[in-house]
Amino acid sequence: MIVMSPQATDSQKDAVIEKVKGAGVHVVTIDGEMNFVIGAVGDPDAVIELGLEGLDGVDKVLPISRPYKLASNELTHHEPTIIDIAGRKIGGGTTFCLIAGPCTVESREQTLAVARTVKAGGASLLRGGAFKPRTSPFAFRGLGEPALEILAEAREETGLPVVTELLDAADADVIAKYADVVQIGARNMQNYSLLEVAGKLGKPVLLKRGLSSSLDELLMAADYILREGNEDVMLCERGIRTFETATRFTLDLGAVPWLKLHTHLPVIVDPSHAAGDRRLVQPMSRAAAAVGADGIIVEVHEDPDAAVCDGPQSLQASHFAEFSAEVAAHAALLGRTLS
Ligand code: PEP
Ligand code: MN
Repeated sequence: MIVMSPQATDSQKDAVIEKVKGAGVHVVTIDGEMNFVIGAVGDPDAVIELGLEGLDGVDKVLPISRPYKLASNELTHHEPTIIDIAGRKIGGGTTFCLIAGPCTVESREQTLAVARTVKAGGASLLRGGAFKPRTSPFAFRGLGEPALEILAEAREETGLPVVTELLDAADADVIAKYADVVQIGARNMQNYSLLEVAGKLGKPVLLKRGLSSSLDELLMAADYILREGNEDVMLCERGIRTFETATRFTLDLGAVPWLKLHTHLPVIVDPSHAAGDRRLVQPMSRAAAAVGADGIIVEVHEDPDAAVCDGPQSLQASHFAEFSAEVAAHAALLGRTLS
């Protein structure tokens, strides 16, 4: 929608109309009391490329249609996407997916122990990082491929499919060899070439929201993966940067129902990274279930105090079964059962 300034002359209005028509876009006009408005009906990208803001007499250009396409539920994709991971259904409104495990694979013993515990507690999938994005280059950055071998062993033993992060395109082949779900971390949400690589791996992708990314930006990032022909994308709200520093990030629970209105993709919530404090993880998980998320992803450790990474936010493994039952009860209020 192109809003002309109140002082715009007829020839300025005509010049804009001609320019829009020249891009093959249909034009409708509204002659209001104050402003003359030109509606451009058609390809929004073609209109944006015209650079109309710079033309004489133009006050502002307001995009009306959604900037994301494939992730949107408005055009062709009205039904929710349901992703099937070895029989676990994510999306569609009748299941709730509990993804649990350590922040990072530290050792075979640590990972197998926590995998057994979360499996016994009703988890649907096992999480664990092999390649870790760390704020400091001096922090532990993951065991790499040996960690993926350990995760594969844990899958073998427990039957839990594995979620692990693809940090760098150079690791794509090795991640594809071991992962059941490829995680794109918050810091890489706008690494567009990595999103395209992830889209080509033929595995479901868990796309985390960037620390300071809007929901429109999250959905446009999802478009990069979907455009590669990969339809199995789940979105993850993991907390965003706000003025509040009491929690590690601010969990944006409003994002869940908003995303449900605007996209067909499943929505997962990560209360662990948002909270940064295990005492908050259970109430925030219950809230995620109550607000209509399709699942949660939480960090769990047998001995959080000794964890190499994200210990303060990791749930005590011995509390996991009780935690899981509480969250499942809240998901059940919305007619969902654990997937
Ligand atoms: C993680 O899942 O361990 C992680 C690093 O998450 P995020 O990218 O959301 O910070
Ligand atoms: Mn972590």
